Amino acid sequence: MNTELAKRRRALQGRLKQSGLDGLLVTHPPDWYYLAGFFGESGTLLVFPTNLTLITDGRFTVQAREEMKGVRIQLQKGALFESTGRFLKEGKHKQVGFDPARVSHGQFRMLRKAAGAGVRWKEAPGWVSALRMRKDPAELAQMRKAALLAGEVLENAFGLLKPGVREFEIAAEIEYQMRKRGASGPAFETIVASGARAALPHARPTAKRLRKNELVVLDLGAILGHYCSDMTRTVYVGHAPARVRRWYQAVLEAQLAAIAVVKAGVSCGEVDRAAREVLAGHRLDRYFVHSTGHGLGLEVHEDPRVARGQKARLEPGNVITIEPGVYLEGVGGIRIEDDVAVHSDRTEILTRVKRDLIEL
Ligand code: ZN
Ligand code: ZN
Repeated sequence: MNTELAKRRRALQGRLKQSGLDGLLVTHPPDWYYLAGFFGESGTLLVFPTNLTLITDGRFTVQAREEMKGVRIQLQKGALFESTGRFLKEGKHKQVGFDPARVSHGQFRMLRKAAGAGVRWKEAPGWVSALRMRKDPAELAQMRKAALLAGEVLENAFGLLKPGVREFEIAAEIEYQMRKRGASGPAFETIVASGARAALPHARPTAKRLRKNELVVLDLGAILGHYCSDMTRTVYVGHAPARVRRWYQAVLEAQLAAIAVVKAGVSCGEVDRAAREVLAGHRLDRYFVHSTGHGLGLEVHEDPRVARGQKARLEPGNVITIEPGVYLEGVGGIRIEDDVAVHSDRTEILTRVKRDLIEL
């Protein structure tokens, strides 16, 4: 079996023993992939001290057998959570952990009923996501490729930005170019937001045509070999006036300040503060309406959160985005986002597209 998978399972099994649990219920598909190499859409994975069992329905059993090594496969009988509860009851398991953020109230009720009084349920919040935060060398290698791919697609998109082109045409070309370069798809709906719409941090591409003398925010990410990238550049169509240049420089300065703080041992809140302080110095902090960044990996948003007051400390293997921005209602927005990996002795920027203001 893949030694990295074995290591991850051992880490979780060690934690089970320490906590006196004899099983952990894993319901989140990216977590199955992380622990077992299976990317099916429906099932429950049970981690026991000496083995793993996947309960899934007939649509996925063949795929599961092909993709997973060293995992028992149990055909689901009836509803998934009832079937899982019955399986735990029949196996006489006594203390089973679950992540309350990943199991709905209805699912939990079904599990508890089917498992009966013999199974005691203990909360085990974020056990798998805590492991997933520390990327191993193979994951980092994959994330470098996903980041480079996003950068190539972004640079290619600069050539399409002309007055008269619609936002959704650019977004479609971006996503087509991703797939053409081997991505399984975009990591999230590509953002192309121009003019006043660029003031909406999560604008969806519309039929709006690009016009001269406006800002365009391009935020995109690709999934390559299951791992995500996420990056943003802001372009000015035409020759940027002095105030736009000033705002852009302030955001860039904020981003560089936050990246400079990134280091193993530093809290995520300190990274966020570094960006916010720079923008405050330019009196733009009130226009920075979201957090500085987020963890990235099998999912586009994962732990750690790089936000105000976050106490979690960065560790080697973390990959986070650094994406300060300013959003001026009625005028537009500016965001610059890169993916950054934390190593024990250095910080590595995975996304490689120059950050100076691009004027077209
Ligand atoms: Zn983004
Ligand atoms: Zn992001």
